[in-house]
Amino acid sequence: MPTTPELERSLRAAALRVTRPRLAVLGVLREHAHATTDEVLGLVRAQLPEVSHQAVYDVLRALTASGLVRRIEPQGSVARYEVRVGDNHHHLVCRSCGVIADVDCSVGAAPCLTPSEDHGFVVDEAEVTYWGLCRTCAAPTVLPTLENPAERGTR
Ligand SMILES: [Zn+2]
Ligand SMILES: [Zn+2]
Repeated sequence: MPTTPELERSLRAAALRVTRPRLAVLGVLREHAHATTDEVLGLVRAQLPEVSHQAVYDVLRALTASGLVRRIEPQGSVARYEVRVGDNHHHLVCRSCGVIADVDCSVGAAPCLTPSEDHGFVVDEAEVTYWGLCRTCAAPTVLPTLENPAERGTR
């Protein structure tokens, strides 16, 4: 678990003033990857009840703008935040329950950063979302046994 001095260092390295709400948001995101705004709000206010909703929104915006926090918004999902930044990792998203998992860049050193046609853009990041069903949602449903009287006559 990261210590407060570590979090303070990362704030200073990003030229951000060290404040308790900023430390709290970073601490919460270290432990809860891909947390939603509401989740961050609840967890931060559990530690610092005096911090307003607006202050937490402002902190999330400042941390995202500084690059300490990455904001992702899979289609159909609310915004989610994480502190795993700068490694060009991707996300697996379950279509059924919405669970999100990190996945390293597909093969080796960011080959996805080389599009087949770059149209002259200088590319520094690729955002890839893999959609599917998580292990739990993909597990075959257990069929009721014929011994169950409630199921008799239905087949
Ligand atoms: Zn699922
Ligand atoms: Zn992630």
